[in-house]
Amino acid sequence: MSAPRLEIDLDKLQHNTRVLVGQLATHGISVTAVSKACLGSPDIANTFLKSGIQSIGDSRIENIETMRHAGIECSITLIRSPMLSQAERVVKNADISFNTEQDVISKLSSVAQQSGQTHGMVLMVELGDLREGIMPHDMESMVRKTLSFPNIKLKGIGTNLACRCGVAPDASNMSQLSRLAEDLESTFSQSFDIVSGGNSANLDWALSETDTRRINELRLGESLLLGHETLHRQPIPGLHTDTIVLFAEVIEIKTKPSQPWGRLAQNAYGETPVFTDQGNVSQAILAIGRQDIDPQGLTPPPDINIIDASSDHLIVQSTQNDLVVGTELAFQLNYSALTRAMTSPFISKESIGSG
Ligand SMILES: *Cc1c(COP(=O)(O)O)cnc(C)c1O
Repeated sequence: MSAPRLEIDLDKLQHNTRVLVGQLATHGISVTAVSKACLGSPDIANTFLKSGIQSIGDSRIENIETMRHAGIECSITLIRSPMLSQAERVVKNADISFNTEQDVISKLSSVAQQSGQTHGMVLMVELGDLREGIMPHDMESMVRKTLSFPNIKLKGIGTNLACRCGVAPDASNMSQLSRLAEDLESTFSQSFDIVSGGNSANLDWALSETDTRRINELRLGESLLLGHETLHRQPIPGLHTDTIVLFAEVIEIKTKPSQPWGRLAQNAYGETPVFTDQGNVSQAILAIGRQDIDPQGLTPPPDINIIDASSDHLIVQSTQNDLVVGTELAFQLNYSALTRAMTSPFISKESIGSG
């Protein structure tokens, strides 16, 4: 197998998914599995579908198209507000989209009318994290407008926290969402299919709450893939945290001084790093760099320390004396390193296990 590569263990992913789907079901919550970190990989989507998932969410229409071309037929939601310029592709490939803007809903409606389709809609509410969302006091008028658009079916409401500002989902903001859903349902004599409470950051709240009220869905990505919650990045008991592993190959290993010599100016990234003298060290270079990964998001194997990275080189110090040119080292990734690695055409993606 070629390096660098991401190895994705589909059996571990299936396990993680089954565990969380099962636990949340006892709280009346279904899971929409989020495929964006894996660019809509059909292997991963199919593994989700084998693990009790009935709907998939992705933030990019390109990823949704990848899944449709691979024959994935389940309900797929575009979980970022559609671009006006992509409305045709959205109506064609996504069953539902998350929306906050009347102009976009209007465009989706006219595209859906032209193609004789119905497009599902979840209106997103702002509850404090200051990313996407309609202010709560504007929800009633947005629902009224949404219901007036032909070929648009209002499926429900949702919110997203802990992404931009780190606002934690808790009993207070989650009951505000429930109350808003109940009020809108009674004002408009509607029953919402979906009241979507949030992402992996909602797990602490959902699993400790005895009554999750109207909230009946969470959208999970990072927790399924990496096995941890996302408020404090603690492992979730019973889940695998090594479902995805990055392998990179050593291309140089030499004993060198720990301090550079010559006149110091900026490095390739405009930084002026400082160095402490540790005498001579065993320095290895791996053929992977900042163009492919976020070096700060990698956890190296024991006895290896990540020192620096340029675009194409990852510099590590090693106290292992068995490293040679050609050795592959395995790294764990955080979400930032994972999304960049998945997006790099220089890193191959290999599924292992049968899912
Ligand atoms: C990415 C995303 C999710 C999934 O978040 P995780 O932290 O990966 O679980 C859910 N909802 C929206 C709107 C997103 O953009």
